[in-house]
Amino acid sequence: MTLRPDDVAPDDLDDPFWEACAHRVFMVHRCTICGRAYWPASTCIDHGSASMQWQPASGLGEVFTYTVVHHAYDRSLVDAVPYAACVVKLDEGPFFHTDIVGCPAADVHVGMRVHVTFEVIDDHAVIPHFAPDAES
Ligand SMILES: [Zn+2]
Repeated sequence: MTLRPDDVAPDDLDDPFWEACAHRVFMVHRCTICGRAYWPASTCIDHGSASMQWQPASGLGEVFTYTVVHHAYDRSLVDAVPYAACVVKLDEGPFFHTDIVGCPAADVHVGMRVHVTFEVIDDHAVIPHFAPDAES
């Protein structure tokens, strides 16, 4: 089982984020007055909701914290363990809950530079993951 956007974002607020993922664009919800970035869709703590817009982001960040999951909590995850469940601090500021792909889970560490990568599930579901960033 792979989670689909409808599983994790059953409301309309984050639809623009998932639609952008389908075009391999990673977005943050940004205040057009002060520039503060948020994820998921939010309200600026200083300027309310009217100033908020989804805007393309760098897709870069660093591992803030993680845990290596060794137990398959669902039968569909038997081939996925061990995997690194992770919180990435995006370069724009928000924290993004994700997993790290492209390296063994044992290689993941706090402070590791990562970049977004997209997994195509089908025409309606493209899922962002993060992978080690070779550029940094
Ligand atoms: Zn603001």
